[in-house]
Parts: sequence; structure tokens; C-alpha cells
Amino acid sequence: MTARTISILGATGSVGASTLDLIRRNPADWQVVALTANSSASELAALAREFDAQIAIVSDEAHLPSLRAELSGTGIEVAGGREALCEAASRKVDLTVAAIVGCAGLAPTMAAIEQGGTIALANKEALVSAGDVMTAAVAEHGATLLPVDSEHNAIFQCLADNSVSDVRWITLTASGGPFRTWSAQQIAAATPAQAVAHPNWDMGAKISVDSATMMNKGLEFIEAHHLFPVGLDRLRIVVHPQSVIHSMVEYRDGSTLAQLGPSDMRVPIASCLAWPQRMNTPCAPLDLPAIGELSFFAPDEELFPATRLAREAVHQGGSAPAILNAANEVAVAAFLAGKIAFTKIAVVVEECLHRDIPAVPASLADVLAADSLGRAQATEILETC
Ligand code: NDP
Repeated sequence: MTARTISILGATGSVGASTLDLIRRNPADWQVVALTANSSASELAALAREFDAQIAIVSDEAHLPSLRAELSGTGIEVAGGREALCEAASRKVDLTVAAIVGCAGLAPTMAAIEQGGTIALANKEALVSAGDVMTAAVAEHGATLLPVDSEHNAIFQCLADNSVSDVRWITLTASGGPFRTWSAQQIAAATPAQAVAHPNWDMGAKISVDSATMMNKGLEFIEAHHLFPVGLDRLRIVVHPQSVIHSMVEYRDGSTLAQLGPSDMRVPIASCLAWPQRMNTPCAPLDLPAIGELSFFAPDEELFPATRLAREAVHQGGSAPAILNAANEVAVAAFLAGKIAFTKIAVVVEECLHRDIPAVPASLADVLAADSLGRAQATEILETC
């Protein structure tokens, strides 16, 4: 078998590391084209050398000199800045792993989509913000989106060859995050260290906070709406603290198909790398007797309003999901920097959604404008806090 070409946008992150771990175990199967980071120049240089990448890019140009110094004499191309990132993303490859965090990943992901290739999408914020603009580009350019998010990958597997019109429900499972059993007073005093300590998954800081607020599930609700067009009223969320069932699809004949697996992102990533086949992973097999019990609860939207906000944003339509996402990114960054209380994150997002929302975005430029507006509004709200 000839090696397939791959680019990893966000190679220095948690999803990037899990992807590269699988590639490291199957070096003959892959030829690495582009690896990207924002500012982690040394880490990126080490990865580019190890995987013999064609090009390494730091999005933050201030880190280009150190990347250049680290890779001098290796023959590996280096570049810096947002334009260079998009140029690298637009190089034709067999598979692009879109694993940048936040709406910062949108433009490079769109550049990859415009090449008509296959994109393993982890960067949910890009799809939440761009919505129909992204799905229309996928259709126009004949690209393929494979969902990396464990829930969406589970749904994708459960849908397999079934018809979307036979679906009665799609159920997204949620762990409930580290504060699931906490009181309102405890949640109000939660620290960044407590919020990033997820009980089941080892992830980047931003998505860990999103899991703690349940905004992660809200973003996933919107992501599922775009990936699996069954209608918003057929999508629901259930809290499942063990994170063993990654999501479920119920059909009109009463059959429910679920995908189960360990809480290890290498499983859904492997499903995308090998699709439509399967590959080995080093993950331990499921030990159901050791797990013992699986439990399920309705989400508590009083304590965790983020899923309600996401539902309202997608029903509101227009640029509301992009505003929701941008406001959340700003508020989560402020929380992680110790500037606001945990419970303020949802307050900032809700206040932004009550402001004027631009009309339905028709292009990438419209989405990026809505994203900028959401960031400016959230920053202004934070300044008056
Ligand atoms: P991390 O924070 O661990 O990594 C983010 C990556 O994006 C890093 O390579 C980082 O570079 C790069 N990056 C950050 N900011 C920018 C920017 N402004 N421009 C360009 N590159 C940037 O995130 P995760 O791996 O946890 O998450 C990545 C995406 O995958 C998110 O959208 C998340 O929601 C999604 N996801 C993650 C899961 C997980 O288990 N982690 C599970 C499911 C989905 P640098 O190192 O230089 O900062």
C-alpha cells in the first residue's frame, strides 16, 4: 500500500498528539505534509523533524524566528502567520486533521475544504460558527467531512448505511463534567484548575472548561445539527457520567444503535484515519464487568445553562451560533486567566445573544465578521463586569 498524505492543523494540541501517536505506530502508512501550531515553536519543530514533515507553520508570526532556527539545515520548509497557515492547509493531501481550537481554525479548515479533500474535523467551533457556509462549501467542492468528536463519530458509525429519514432520535451523551454533582455555591467558587480536571477525558484547557460548563455539549448539539440533518427536534442530550456510550441513534422501528468505547480520542481518530476501513489502536478493550453500571440523567439547565443557550442560538439562526461561540471563547479565556468567576461565562454569552445579531452569514467573510463582533461585545461586557 502506498503511504497516504496527511496534514495536521493544530499538531501540538491534545487531538494533534493523539493523531500523531497513531501515525507513529504506523509510519509506513503516512507521509506528513503540513504540521501547524500557534506559538509552540520548539514542540512543533521536534514533531516536524520526527515525522519528516514537508512544512511547519506557526500561526503567530512572532514565533517564526525560533521555528526557523530550530529547523535550519533540515530541509523542512517553515512559515508563519495566518496566510501561511491557510496556504499550507490548501496543499492537496489525502486527509487533513482539523484540530485547531476555536474559530481560529475556521479559515484554514475552509482552505482545506476548498481543495475537495477529506477533512477529519475536530475543530467544532469552526462548524458551529460557519454552519451552512461550511456545509455548502463541502458540497460545492466535493469534500468529505469525517467527524472526530467522539459523539459525532459515534453517530456517524451508528448511522452507517441507514437512511436519515428513518431516524427517530439522535442522542448525544454528555459526561456532565467535573461539577456534575456540585452545589450551586461550589460551582460559583470553581477555580480554573478544578474546571480543567475532567473526570474521564484528557483534553486541551478550552474544551475542558466547555465540558465543565456544558457549553461543549451545546456546541456539539449545533455541530450535530449540521452534520446529521434530522431536524433540531430529533436531537437530544442525556448525561451519562461513565462516558462509555459515546452517542446513540434510535430508528423508527424502535431499534437503538449505540457506539461504546474507552474514553480515549485515539478511537474516533483511528476511525477517521482508517475510514472506511478499521485499524488497530493501543487502547485497552472495554471491560464491561469492571465498569459495572451505566447511568443516565436529564441535563440540569438551571445549574448549567449553556445547552439552553446553544439551543436558543441555533433556533434564533442567523449569526447567533457564531456570536455564541465567539462570546464563549472570550469568556472562557477570561475565566482561565482568573479574571471572572466560572458562572460568569454563561452570563456573558447570554448577554451577547440578547444584542443585535447579524443576518444569516452568506460567506466566510460574513462569519468572520460575526465572530469579531461577538468577541468585541463579550470583551465590552467583561470590561463593565
Ligand atoms: P489544544 O488546546 O490541546 O490544542 C490546540 C491546537 O491549536 C494547538 O496545536 C495550538 O497551538 C493550536 N492553536 C491554538 N490557537 C491557535 C490559533 N489562534 N491559530 C492557530 N493555531 C492555534 O486543543 P484540543 O486538541 O483539546 O482541541 C482541538 C479541537 O478539537 C477543539 O476544537 C476541540 O473542541 C476539539 N476536540 C478536542 C477533543 C480532545 O479530546 N482534546 C475532543 C473532541 C473535540 P499551540 O500549541 O502553539 O498553542
